[in-house]
Amino acid sequence: MKIGIIGTGYVGLPTGVGLAELGNEVVCTDKVKEKIDDLKAGKLTIYEDGLEELFAKNIANGRLTFTTNMRKAVEGADVVLIAVGTPPHPVTHEADLKYIYAAATELAEYLTDYTVIATKSTVPVGTGENIEQLISSKNPTARFDVISLPEFLREGFAVRDFFSPDRIVVGTNSERAANVMKELYKPFEGKTNMLFVSRRSSETIKYASNAFLAMKIHYINEIANFCEKSGADVAEVAKGMGLDKRIGDKFLNAGIGFGGSCFPKDTMAMAYMGHSVGATMELIETTINGNNKRKRQMAERVCSVIKDIQNPKVAVWGLAFKNGTDDCRESPAMDVVAELIKKQVDVVAYDPKAMKNACQILGDKISYADDVYSAVKDADALVILTEWKEFSLTDLSVVAQLMNRKTILDFRNMLNPKDALALGFEYQCIGKKIG
Ligand code: NAD
Repeated sequence: MKIGIIGTGYVGLPTGVGLAELGNEVVCTDKVKEKIDDLKAGKLTIYEDGLEELFAKNIANGRLTFTTNMRKAVEGADVVLIAVGTPPHPVTHEADLKYIYAAATELAEYLTDYTVIATKSTVPVGTGENIEQLISSKNPTARFDVISLPEFLREGFAVRDFFSPDRIVVGTNSERAANVMKELYKPFEGKTNMLFVSRRSSETIKYASNAFLAMKIHYINEIANFCEKSGADVAEVAKGMGLDKRIGDKFLNAGIGFGGSCFPKDTMAMAYMGHSVGATMELIETTINGNNKRKRQMAERVCSVIKDIQNPKVAVWGLAFKNGTDDCRESPAMDVVAELIKKQVDVVAYDPKAMKNACQILGDKISYADDVYSAVKDADALVILTEWKEFSLTDLSVVAQLMNRKTILDFRNMLNPKDALALGFEYQCIGKKIG
């Protein structure tokens, strides 16, 4: 099949690479010329585990191409995937659909034969109808169906999730479009659940899923607070809870709050949608407020251990919103750092993959280190904010020698508390009182 992909970011690029690997002819387009120039030159524009090899292979065999010319991606395509951003509106926090409508407006004129327009972007309920009307008004003779095809990939696992999805949800009432999707996803037949639902249900499934996962994270963080006061250990509690199949063991890692480019904006958009239709979203609103509070509390915990030090220096390990990605958008680690900057704390940070993105956001407001050890040199406290495996493999005895004051706030529970205590560290983690 010929597939056009509009938007070559964290969703569009791995999806394009995956569909090319399955044997399709994929043309990816983006409005950012530098991105397309890099991709054309064989340079990946995002970091994703396992993406590089498949990317290079499918460029070499000619199945994967890149262009800034939308006509080339859309003309003659069987399926056009829209994978542009849907950021929160700065004032109302609803999903801002300007990129979606701009893409739909532009693609309309290039539709030739029957085409399935599949919305991969996370969009509010009813957006499918709006895209349909927009395209019809721009190109009244075009033959097409607009379907909802929500994306469930996790950054850091995008390649794995593409090839082994938990489910593929298709929102459409068109039998013709459904058949095209069955053909496209034939390689997954018998291996994954393919669910066909109405377009509005499909659009809701994406938001309802993300809001639920965000609530699960907020819930375990609340339990972690309880454990710290009650003498229980949240890791043990989560393990015991997770063995119950009704609960499941995923998303029960207590930490510094959820973040990333999806959960914060999707929970806000869901709350907004609820208000618009007159259905209050109290659990979701509590989750949003609680999560914002949690990030501030984490920064306050850091400040409380350095409050007696003049010009304190804090080393931060981890800036990406989670491990396995260079994405810093809405990263809770960045929010904690931002709170520390506000409190005039001198921060030196290191992240294995996200330094470039973090630097674009924070600029010279903090200093950057080349590795874990140079970050902690002369620091009064070390704060671990992203769960990169390399942090748990660090030689703590070297860290102990380099630091000015031996204090660790392990907000990702990466280290063995016994090792830290044995080396004389003052050590705190999440959901368990140490010492
Ligand atoms: P992104 O910002 O990484 O990529 C979007 C790309 O679209 C950008 O490169 C941008 O330049 C391009 N673009 C915008 N308007 C365009 C236009 N008119 N023509 C061509 N290109 C255009 O965003 P993302 O993280 O890939 O997210 C895309 C959508 O997928 C969002 O709705 C998001 O909520 C959803 N989603 C994201 C994830 C994730 O983990 N990132 C997971 C599931 C769903």
